[in-house]
Amino acid sequence: MNLLVTGAAGFIGSTYVRTLLASSAPDAPHVTVLDRLTYAGSLDNLELGHPRLTFVHGDICDAGLVDKLMAEADQVVHFAAESHVDRSLTGAADFVRTNVLGTQTLLDAALRHGVGPFVHISTDEVYGSIESGAWREDHPLRPSSPYSASKASSDLLALAHHRTHGLDVRITRCSNNYGPRQFPEKIIPLFVTNLLDGKKVPLYGDGRNVRDWLHVEDHCHGVDLVRTKGRPGEVYNIGGGTELSNRNLTGLLLQACGAGWDRVEYVEDRKGHDLRYSVDWSKARDELGYRPRRDFTTGLAETVAWYRDNRAWWEPLKRRAGLSG
Ligand code: NAD
Repeated sequence: MNLLVTGAAGFIGSTYVRTLLASSAPDAPHVTVLDRLTYAGSLDNLELGHPRLTFVHGDICDAGLVDKLMAEADQVVHFAAESHVDRSLTGAADFVRTNVLGTQTLLDAALRHGVGPFVHISTDEVYGSIESGAWREDHPLRPSSPYSASKASSDLLALAHHRTHGLDVRITRCSNNYGPRQFPEKIIPLFVTNLLDGKKVPLYGDGRNVRDWLHVEDHCHGVDLVRTKGRPGEVYNIGGGTELSNRNLTGLLLQACGAGWDRVEYVEDRKGHDLRYSVDWSKARDELGYRPRRDFTTGLAETVAWYRDNRAWWEPLKRRAGLSG
């Protein structure tokens, strides 16, 4: 079986592919990775010499290349995206191009070649912000940022390909991922690497925005359950079960790095900053047997240790992205 995985030189996709390649099951797939290697993608994240891995450097918007790869694929897991909200606030064009046009290019090719399941990786951010309670999958989409609007658009295109053409599309909407190899512009790796370098950390507004934290390995487990056991045309929320305000998260990171609150710089809040995200993942639990397995305290400690031990991975990325300060 040949599984086409897009965006797997990035954080979550590379974790997913490592898990698949580590399996010695007789039905473990051959994996073809398609990645454009934007600022967020790194070949260091992939085991390039693995006999069950083929890496293709290319763009999901390249219809000719996508058609050729889709002709050879049996299934798809689609992670490739522009993924950082802050970047979408200053330039939305790349987000629309990759997240909307790129997804449509993949869906059209999957349809032409009868490829499925096609697992589309989305985000809880498509629902907007929720003061109390948690979103179920049928909650109306009310995205706030150009990033989440582009992801919501791609979800709708994916569902339309199922409703109109019967394409076997399955969508996952997960909460905030954390773990090793996350690009050091996102809050946990940015704060940890700044603290390890003796620098300050920029906390948005008053830090009361709440996020649900999901270990990347739990997310990847959920994605594979959806690929292997999910139903066509269905959306599955995947949550982590640890809700924290950014202020509380900052406190834990300061503690883990042996730093005090004097290292926190309060900066002007992100425009349109959603106050709280919370997904109800009981559908994935009841239908697929999903549950997050990683304890947050241990997972966070291991993540901090990974960044401490892997400067060679993140220092060049921060330098190139102008994040070294
Ligand atoms: P990431 O930014 O670390 O990686 C994205 C990858 O996509 C990179 O390797 C990049 O090179 C590749 N890519 C970008 N544009 C491309 C294009 N046009 N063609 C081919 N490849 C391209 O992202 P991530 O954090 O691993 O997120 C993966 C997916 O999960 C995304 O769809 C994102 O929206 C979703 N998601 C992420 C989180 C999170 O907490 N990180 C939460 C919810 C959903």
